[in-house]
Amino acid sequence: ASGYTLLRDPHHNKGLAFPEKERDAHYLRGLLPPAVMSQELQEKKIMNMLRQYKVPLHIYMAMMDLQERNERLFYKLLIDNVEELLPIVYTPTVGEACQKYGSIFRRPQGLYISLKEKGKILEVLKNWPERNIQVIVVTDGERILGLGDLGCQGMGIPVGKLSLYTALGGLRPSACLPITIDVGTNNKDLLKDEFYIGLRQNRATGQEYAELLEEFMFAVKQNYGEKVLIQFEDFANHNAFELLAKYSNTHLVFNDDIQGTASVVLAGLIAALKLVGGKLSDQKFLFLGAGEAGTGIAELIALEMSKQTKTSIEETRKKIWLVDSKGLIIASRKETLQHFKKPWAHEHEPMRTLLDAVKAIKPTVLIGSSGVGKTFTKQVVEAMASFNKVSHRHDKQILVLIHKPIILALSNPTSQSECTAEEAYTWSEGRAIFASGSPFNPVEYNGKTYVPGQANNAYIFPGLGLGLIISGAIRVKDDMLLAASEALAAQVATENFEKGLIYPPFSNIRKISAHIAANVAAKAYELGLASRLPRPKDLVEYAESCMYNPVYRTYR
Ligand code: NAP
Ligand code: MN
Repeated sequence: ASGYTLLRDPHHNKGLAFPEKERDAHYLRGLLPPAVMSQELQEKKIMNMLRQYKVPLHIYMAMMDLQERNERLFYKLLIDNVEELLPIVYTPTVGEACQKYGSIFRRPQGLYISLKEKGKILEVLKNWPERNIQVIVVTDGERILGLGDLGCQGMGIPVGKLSLYTALGGLRPSACLPITIDVGTNNKDLLKDEFYIGLRQNRATGQEYAELLEEFMFAVKQNYGEKVLIQFEDFANHNAFELLAKYSNTHLVFNDDIQGTASVVLAGLIAALKLVGGKLSDQKFLFLGAGEAGTGIAELIALEMSKQTKTSIEETRKKIWLVDSKGLIIASRKETLQHFKKPWAHEHEPMRTLLDAVKAIKPTVLIGSSGVGKTFTKQVVEAMASFNKVSHRHDKQILVLIHKPIILALSNPTSQSECTAEEAYTWSEGRAIFASGSPFNPVEYNGKTYVPGQANNAYIFPGLGLGLIISGAIRVKDDMLLAASEALAAQVATENFEKGLIYPPFSNIRKISAHIAANVAAKAYELGLASRLPRPKDLVEYAESCMYNPVYRTYR
C-alpha cells in the first residue's frame, strides 16, 4: 500500500505521529511536514481548537471530521474528555445535528436500508466492508430524542450511540454497525426540504413496515450469526414495544429507550436507598408519563421488588402508579388502554391532575417521564416534601426526622425537564434526592452545595453490551438488566453520596462499564445463555482486557 493511501485510511492514519522509521518503511517521506508529534500533543492541539468554537454544532462537525480522518485520535479525545464531549457526540448536540443532517452531510456513515432495498437487504449488508460485526444500533427515525420524526436523518443517533459503545464500553469501532431503516417520514418540513436525504414519502406502516423489519432481522442473523447484538433506538413507542416483544425470543435484542432507561433509573433508586434507608419495597412510586421510559422503568422496579421480597410481580406492581395524558391510570380505564399500560391499571377513583394524584397516592418516589417540561410545580414538590417527613415528639421539642423524597425529572432536553435542580432543592428545603435526564449544575442552598445526578443511559448500555459480547450471550433477559443496575449502584462511592449524588462521576466510566459487563456476563453464564466457554475466572479483569484501546499502534 502507498503512503498516500495510508494517510487517507482513518483506521490506520496517525498524521504527524508517524515516527521517522515508519515514514521510511511506509512511503510517507515528503507526504508529511518534518515535525513528529506525539498522540498526546495532537490531542492537546485538537482540544484547543474545539474549545475555540462557540457553537456546539461546529464542535460536532469537527469531531465527525476527525472520526473520518483519524479514528484512534477521535476515540482518544472522546475517552480522555468524556464529560466535555459526551454532550456533543450525543444528546443534546447530536439532536441538532440530525435536524440539519441534510445540510451538514458530507461522507455517508453507516448503512441505509430503505423500502427500495426490499428483497435485497442481505446484499446490502454484504456491501458493508467489515465482516465481524458485534453490535448494530438501528433506528427508523420516527422518535429521535425529544425531537420527533426526523426520518432518514436519524442516522446521527446510531452513529453517536456506537461511538459511545467504543469510547465508554470498549467495543472495537470496526465491530460496530450503525443502521437507519428508511420507510419514509411524516415530517412535512423534511419532505419539502430540497436537501433532505431520505425517501420522499409518508411512512409505510402495517404489513409493509413489518415485512421490511422482518427481512432485516433475519438478514442480520443470517449474515452475522446468533451473537450480534441489535439495539433498537428511537423507534416510536407502538413499534418499539412490538419489535422488542417479537424478536426477543429469536435474536439478541435490546431497546435502550425502554430497557436501558429502566436499568439506569433502577440503579439510581438502589443507590438512593443508601440515603433514605429501607428497602425498595418500602417505597411507593408515582410516574408522570406512561410510555417507553415510564412503563419500562416501572416494570423493572416491580421485577426487582418481586425478586427481593419473593412475592409475585402482580403484587409488587401495586406499589407503582402511573399518570398519562388522561390522568391516573386506573382499572376503570382498562378497556381503552394500550397493552403496555394495562398492568398498571389499579383500583382507584379517577384523578385528573398530577397534583391530585400526588396527594392521593402519597408517593415516596416521583418520576417524570412524559417529555413535558415544568410539570413538577412548586405545589407538587412541596406536597412530596410534606408527607415524606416524619416528626417525633422528643421532650418538649419537636424532633423532626429528616426524610427525603426522591424526585427524578427525566424528560429531555433541559427545556422539557419536569423541574430544575434548584427548584427541587429549594421547594423541598434541601431534602429532595434529585436526579435528571439532562444535566444540571450544582446548587447552593442554605450554605450547602447539592450536586444533582444525571440518569444518563450512557452509564448502562456500553457496559451491558460489552457483557453480552464477552460472554457470547444469545438472548437478553431482564435478570441481566437487574445485574447491570446493581453493578452501577455499587459504583457510587461514599464521597458521591455525601454530595447527594446517586450516580458515580462519568470520569470513571470505563471502570464502571467493566464492572457492569462482568455482572451481566456472570448472569448470562448463570442462565446458560453464554456461548463463550470456558467461563473466564475473573470477569472484571477479562472485560477490561477485551476493551479497545485507542493508543496508536506501531507499524512494522
Ligand atoms: P413516550 O413513549 O412517547 O411516552 C410519553 C408518555 O408521557 C405517554 O404515556 C404520554 O401519555 C405521557 N404524556 C405526554 N404528555 C403528557 C402530559 N401533558 N401529562 C401527562 N402525561 C403526558 O416517550 P418516552 O420514550 O417514554 O420518553 C419520555 C421522556 O423521557 C422524553 O422526554 C425522554 O427524553 C425522556 N427519557 C429520559 C431518559 C433518561 O433520563 N435516561 C431515558 C429515556 C427517555 P399518553 O400515553 O396518554 O399519550
Ligand atoms: Mn434513545
